[in-house]
Amino acid sequence: MTTHDTTGKVLTVLGPVDPHDLGVTITHEHLLIDLSIVFVEPDDEEGRRLAEEPVGIGNLGWIRTNWSSNRDNLVQTDIDVATREAARFKAAGGGTIVDATSIGIDRNPKALAEISRAAGIHVVMGAGYYVGPAHPDDFSSRPVDSITAEIVRDIVTGVGDTGIRSGIIGEVGCSWPWTDNEKKSVAAAVAAQCETGAPLLIHPGRDQKAPIEIVKFIEREGGDLNRTVMSHVDIRIYEREILRELAATGIYIEYDTFGLESPFPPHAPDTYMPSDYQRIEQLIGLIEDGYLERVVLAHDNCTKHRLRVFGGHGFDHIPSTITGWMKRQGMSQAQIDTLLIENPRRMLTFA
Ligand SMILES: [Zn+2]
Repeated sequence: MTTHDTTGKVLTVLGPVDPHDLGVTITHEHLLIDLSIVFVEPDDEEGRRLAEEPVGIGNLGWIRTNWSSNRDNLVQTDIDVATREAARFKAAGGGTIVDATSIGIDRNPKALAEISRAAGIHVVMGAGYYVGPAHPDDFSSRPVDSITAEIVRDIVTGVGDTGIRSGIIGEVGCSWPWTDNEKKSVAAAVAAQCETGAPLLIHPGRDQKAPIEIVKFIEREGGDLNRTVMSHVDIRIYEREILRELAATGIYIEYDTFGLESPFPPHAPDTYMPSDYQRIEQLIGLIEDGYLERVVLAHDNCTKHRLRVFGGHGFDHIPSTITGWMKRQGMSQAQIDTLLIENPRRMLTFA
């Protein structure tokens, strides 16, 4: 392993920081994103009309259940909006946002640094490549080594000539079935993790078996599961036995769609999204099974309709609302601090 200025630190868009400075941390968000690749054209005339409307109070009810079928909803590139939403997270006691926007969904280093400064929160920026449909045209012909080198550069010297550095590799996108290009992308990400000591964040394909298949692959490639997060577990794994099997691998399990309660969205009609109540009950089950120190939390805000300015729950839903519900269901403040402060701090600290 190369020794960099990051060993024992967390790497934010404003540079390395002491891990104890992070505070309450949500580990999978998108302050800015263009998720147009998931757009699904509705098959009825009314839907096709609503698909082209800007997000507003008059169509919000429809968008809540058809959120991947409204074009405007899938693009949030307004820095002022992101700054205000991040400031509300801070006002609710938040300290750090991991922005998991990777290459292919409009990662914007300069804007993230601007938001971090203006809102007064730490932002950790992603690296690597999102799912296959977002890969650039030349991806199939690129050797693993060149992708690894690109990720390492983003971490060690910064993206392009910005000097702004990625502090996590991800979200690295995988589909179901898992494609060869996406396996190459994960292999490159793991190699970059080995070289830099960076944390790694995986977006698994939509199947209960996908997360464990990817964990086995990461282990074979020599990845560090102590610094690796499996995203979207709350909307991938529904059977407790499979959840236990994943937790037993030692990877960090991310419950990262708090606030999103619409099942069967147009782009993933077989995906069942639990309610926040169900998420909390599953978390309590994981804690009972001994995995308190292996779970991290987020909202995965990736559309306009989930932001406060558009009538949504914002980035502060977890500290403002969910933690209160957790206590009501019997969780202690110490357990909540482990999930929101200690686990992200440990996971984000470079080797
Ligand atoms: Zn994802």
